[in-house]
Amino acid sequence: MNAYLDKLFSLDGKTAIITGASRGIGYAIAEGLAGAGAAVVGVARSELSDEESPKGVVYKCWDVCGGSDFSDFCRNVAKDNGGLDILVNAAGITLPPGAEEDAEARFRHTIEADVMAVFRTCKSAIPFMDGAGSIINVTSINSVLGFPDNPGYVAAKGGLRMLTKALAVDFGAAGIRVNNLAPGYVHTTMTQASWTDPELRNNRARHTILGRWGEPSDLVGAAIFLASDASSYVTGQDLFVDGGWIAKGLIT
Ligand code: NAP
Repeated sequence: MNAYLDKLFSLDGKTAIITGASRGIGYAIAEGLAGAGAAVVGVARSELSDEESPKGVVYKCWDVCGGSDFSDFCRNVAKDNGGLDILVNAAGITLPPGAEEDAEARFRHTIEADVMAVFRTCKSAIPFMDGAGSIINVTSINSVLGFPDNPGYVAAKGGLRMLTKALAVDFGAAGIRVNNLAPGYVHTTMTQASWTDPELRNNRARHTILGRWGEPSDLVGAAIFLASDASSYVTGQDLFVDGGWIAKGLIT
């Protein structure tokens, strides 16, 4: 390992909690932060065997909307690991369109999972980040762009984008940085419907400058950057990892 890069990006001695670690983007980030040296605790609702869990990660079942106290969870992680330095909020849902009479319920459910739960995990983790910490909230290109038939998701990711900035302002003096990691279209369970439809799949790729979908592994380098001292003067920002989606004007 190059000693200079190691010093800049290493997460040795740091402890991280990653929500949404059972699959997709959260799973890849959990493995990535562990690979960079952090002690990582990953959470999601699915029960995973040791073989199925992300490598190098302590995986625990936890529902971020379940009503249990996440503060106690953070306290235990901090006690077991000598502190808590990093929180990545990757847990999230999107709901398919449905009956008009259920629109408000779908909207509320999405806001609850994608914004309220993040507010709670941040407020729970911050007291255990003793003088320094990095929080990474996984937003989306939908945080700045309107997409059809999913007002709850667009409102949730737009709201989360601004929650990040508010928390960055409120906790900067306490040494806690808070940033958004904003993916474009990434091939995961969440996007399986567009991935399996050839027309939609091709359309999503053509929206990007790089001409392809993202893979969960594409998010790892940016997550390590935001988690590490390499980003020590970066807070309240949006880091788009979208193949150039939001920078592209015309689909040709
Ligand atoms: P995914 O494959 O569906 O994974 C979602 C993760 O969130 C799973 O680990 C899921 O685990 C967890 N989760 C959902 N509800 C939860 C709850 N109540 N408590 C705990 N964990 C919960 O989706 P993904 O694509 O990896 O998405 C990860 C994040 O990236 C989400 O915030 C999503 O909005 C965002 N994002 C994704 C894309 C994309 O193209 N894929 C683009 C932009 C943003 P369990 O089901 O086991 O609980």
